[in-house]
Amino acid sequence: MKVPFYIHNLNDSDSSQVAEVLKTPFLTSGAIGKGVEQQLCEYFQVRNSLLTNSWTNGAIATLLAMDIGPGDEVIVPAQTFIATANVVELLGATPVFVDVNPTTLLLDLEAIKGAITNKTRAVIAVHLYGELCDTPAIYSYLKSRSIRFIEDAAHCFEGEKDGVKPGMHSDAAIFSFYATKNVTCGEGGAVITNDDNLAETIRQTRLHGMSASASERFTNNKYNHWTMKRLGVKANLPDLLASLLPRQIEQIDSWLEKRTYLANRYRELLVNIPVRLQKTSGRSAEHLFPIWVQPNLRDSVIRILNDKNVQVAVNYRSVPTLDYYVEKYGYTKEDFPVSYEWGQGTLSLPFFPTMSTEQQDYVVRSLIEAINEASISEGI
Ligand SMILES: *Cc1c(COP(=O)(O)O)cnc(C)c1O
Repeated sequence: MKVPFYIHNLNDSDSSQVAEVLKTPFLTSGAIGKGVEQQLCEYFQVRNSLLTNSWTNGAIATLLAMDIGPGDEVIVPAQTFIATANVVELLGATPVFVDVNPTTLLLDLEAIKGAITNKTRAVIAVHLYGELCDTPAIYSYLKSRSIRFIEDAAHCFEGEKDGVKPGMHSDAAIFSFYATKNVTCGEGGAVITNDDNLAETIRQTRLHGMSASASERFTNNKYNHWTMKRLGVKANLPDLLASLLPRQIEQIDSWLEKRTYLANRYRELLVNIPVRLQKTSGRSAEHLFPIWVQPNLRDSVIRILNDKNVQVAVNYRSVPTLDYYVEKYGYTKEDFPVSYEWGQGTLSLPFFPTMSTEQQDYVVRSLIEAINEASISEGI
């Protein structure tokens, strides 16, 4: 049996949506994207939503709109995908890494407090693997200190905890519609915010800092002049890609039922196996299914699983221990021990809503064999 790491749910009805866009004059941002933005506002019950061509560019547009740059510090977790920290670096600000909670693998408010200085302008918390951080507590603390709070919701479209969803308790929540994410159009993203002023500014920083978008420059058959208000990036999502989103957003909650069923099934099958799992509570978006094995076994386990045609990935090795951050800031393994240890032992099992229970049983059987074989060759 061969088990892929991930398979998307797009099909022929989605191709016909793309074909419809090809018939319109503007292939780029227009009516389709506006419709999706409306859909996002309704799903998340927020005032504003802005589609972007990636999480990364959405985050850059958001940080630009917040005037974050050289001399500023932005707190980010050490355990995340590199993009969370890279966007801060790209703007010339300093990412201040904070270690994550050992059981939830999320940023805790107490840890954030310990990293705040008089240069802290923002915090980006990551809802890692789909599990929501405590946004009400974090936001009320940061708000009282005029520090901006951004949610990295790349893993967490459909997550919810105690009635709280992304975007409710923050200045902005940012999503990714990258190829492997729960909602995808290949490359894409969105920023949602209840702050109308911030939304207006992001509308500019999302598109070169221009005062009007392409479709607005040609209204009523007239050309309208535009001006440049501030420095911006090119982060708008073309309608060609946006057309893949409406059906997925409509169906996301039913796909989550399948994800939740499979994730809980994995949890049951792994009960007596020497692996560690992230502690979850509330409704996780169940984006990935990462496990932790002893670090000296991890790479052998991956190799053996690959030999058995089971595709796995590593999400993620601790960001400050990657070459760029080590060379620039001199971080060591000891600086963020929880993220480091998790990053050395973690691997993500194949996980997607259309996965069969036979495939899942095969993955678990293969994992047990891989851990046994690796333990023997390591002399454990
Ligand atoms: C995928 C991902 C990103 C980056 O998303 P892009 O849309 O590829 O820019 C950022 N943060 C996290 C946690 C991610 O998993």
